Amino acid sequence: MENYINEAVEKFRSLLTEQIARERKMEEEKCVTDFEKLSKIVIGICGGDGIGPIISAESRRLLEFLLKDEIAAGRIELRTIEGLTIEKRIAHNKAIPDDVLAEIKACNVILKAPTTTLKGGTLESANVAMRRELDLYANVRPVCVPDENIDWTFFRENTEGEYVLGSRGVAIPDTLAFDFKVTTKEGTKRIARAAFEYARKNGKTNVAIVTKANIMKKTDGMFSELCHEVAADYPEITAEDWYIDIMTANLVNERVRSRFEVFVLPNLYGDIITDEAAQIQGGVGTAGSANIGDRYAMFEAIHGSAPRMIEEGRGMYANPTSMFKATEMMLSHIGCKAQADKLSKALRICTEEAPKYKITGRPDGATCTEFGDYLMETISKL
Ligand code: NAD
Repeated sequence: MENYINEAVEKFRSLLTEQIARERKMEEEKCVTDFEKLSKIVIGICGGDGIGPIISAESRRLLEFLLKDEIAAGRIELRTIEGLTIEKRIAHNKAIPDDVLAEIKACNVILKAPTTTLKGGTLESANVAMRRELDLYANVRPVCVPDENIDWTFFRENTEGEYVLGSRGVAIPDTLAFDFKVTTKEGTKRIARAAFEYARKNGKTNVAIVTKANIMKKTDGMFSELCHEVAADYPEITAEDWYIDIMTANLVNERVRSRFEVFVLPNLYGDIITDEAAQIQGGVGTAGSANIGDRYAMFEAIHGSAPRMIEEGRGMYANPTSMFKATEMMLSHIGCKAQADKLSKALRICTEEAPKYKITGRPDGATCTEFGDYLMETISKL
């Protein structure tokens, strides 16, 4: 037992040293991409696993259609990145094989389809690795249900919390297991600033800081405190503390939920509650998300690779809306606002105002391609 304890203490020492260095690096290194100043923007498209290649192919078709002129003029390049597959990741025993990571880093932004993560073992999630490698600290997930006056934007901290050391816990066989949760000053301040800046720019007056600071006193306590510190620079915005348990209930409480506007929250709570929010909007297949860093950004569906759809031969009926929403967020981020607005308008028409097709994920609904065609046809009529 003594050996296990000594080993664990040593491991904790090295994790602590590493995390302190990470926090310092965040404080020192700031390299912000200004898309307006780039002579060419390279968009990398990763096909992923399961239904990933099917829905990302639709997004590529959509981008070729929307960015025809920019691509022809060489201002934008669409670059396919092969190899972010579970087979290759297992073969290399790496969350992102080195050659794939190098290709990703040679792009300015990434449109990424879902990737499979194995349960157990030591192979880390490709998503978690990409968010860390590209320092994509803000996971931004909008959820909108106009009929119910719901217009939420979630700012989930994306690089720390339970995830940063999620595959590096400590276990003493047959006795106990420890995982680590990390909150840093810089890591919290930058996500808080992103949320309050968004609120200010979009005329929102309320930011909910969602934690479990009554129980996770150190990590969540610090998160809440630092969010309030940042909030002091935004006096026109009300910063409210909420606990994650009651906020989870509030999202399904029709009497109160429309009062919320912007949410800022640590990694794990953000991961869970945004799936709940997406379900309120119509299911995980309807929600996209942005993973924003200062230098890079990655856009993706919020759901996974839906392996059962593939096993049952239903991949072609997957809902591509999640990837289209991610595409819309990406276009906005790189400065193609007109194309993003067109896509947003057409998506509203095709899913709410005049839905010609219903996507059920099964043969009684439309295929991914039928819906893609309808969307492009709608855009060309705008
Ligand atoms: P999932 O999101 O893949 O599937 C959940 C349910 O939603 C399933 O019933 C599925 O059929 C359905 N679904 C998902 N996307 C759909 C779409 N576009 N159209 C229609 N139906 C859709 O979740 P899971 O089964 O828990 O995870 C499968 C794999 O994906 C796991 O390996 C998991 O780790 C991984 N995953 C990856 C990401 C990512 O890459 N961002 C996110 C979540 C899960």
